[in-house]
Amino acid sequence: MPITLQQPVAACPLCGSPRHTLFDTRVLHGYELTNRLCQACGLVFLSPRMSEEQLAHFYAEEYRDLYHQVKEPRAEDLAVQTARANHLLDLVRRQGVAQLQAHLDIGCSTGILLNTFKSQFGDRATGIELDEAHRAYAQNHGITVYPALVDLPGENEKQFDLVSLIHVLEHLPDPLQTLISLRSRWMATGGWLMLEVPNLYCHDSFEVAHLTSFSPATLSAMVEQAGFTVVRLAKHGQPRSDLLPLYLTLLARPATASPSTPQPIHREAGVHLKRQTGLACRRLITRLAPSRAWKAV
Ligand SMILES: [Zn+2]
Repeated sequence: MPITLQQPVAACPLCGSPRHTLFDTRVLHGYELTNRLCQACGLVFLSPRMSEEQLAHFYAEEYRDLYHQVKEPRAEDLAVQTARANHLLDLVRRQGVAQLQAHLDIGCSTGILLNTFKSQFGDRATGIELDEAHRAYAQNHGITVYPALVDLPGENEKQFDLVSLIHVLEHLPDPLQTLISLRSRWMATGGWLMLEVPNLYCHDSFEVAHLTSFSPATLSAMVEQAGFTVVRLAKHGQPRSDLLPLYLTLLARPATASPSTPQPIHREAGVHLKRQTGLACRRLITRLAPSRAWKAV
């Protein structure tokens, strides 16, 4: 019997609308998953989902086991994280970022991203990682790591000129509020936000831990709604594919206009069709040139 998730999401996590329709259902790893499409803004989100208590238990006890079988960092994960970190560093440098003082990485895993940026910029590296084994690994590699954002000491307020969430935003129960809190409490004036998520229009990423599935439009809208201005949105497959836009990487800065002014959210149309087209394209390339669709790292 598939496990039924219990907690319905009444209002869209982006625009708050109660109007949403069925988008996708499936059973994966024993969980019955239902994703819904907001009729007002086009965001796709999991509902019902685990409660916050269940999520905390899930990440403490099941998550790494479910997806990686072992609790310790694996060589393949380290290789992927290294390749991804180099790609992100390249993106940031091409954007003209010449110096950084303090970098906060939410969900820092082994700390490879933090150390890659530190070796380039000489910045102070701080991580948030709830998994104990990965936190220990990062600490053993010279990173200051806290289990949760609430543990970050207050002296860090307004200190970070780079805040990153790499394959993290889609896991958060309230991504909008988290972004608002990062901007208003922790980011330095003129700082950078860097996000990476799976692309709804290419990556078949529906799983129990992905509470929101972003398209380029809804990711931008979420970030703008949180009081940022999008500087760059890259659609790419690094480090897995040179051809397919599997991932979305976004660079943004706090908006200079009053962030308290509510912005109208443009409705993303054609979400079903764009996803079907993107996944069909991926299947085709996987059949014709499998090594270019998903390469070993
Ligand atoms: Zn919405």
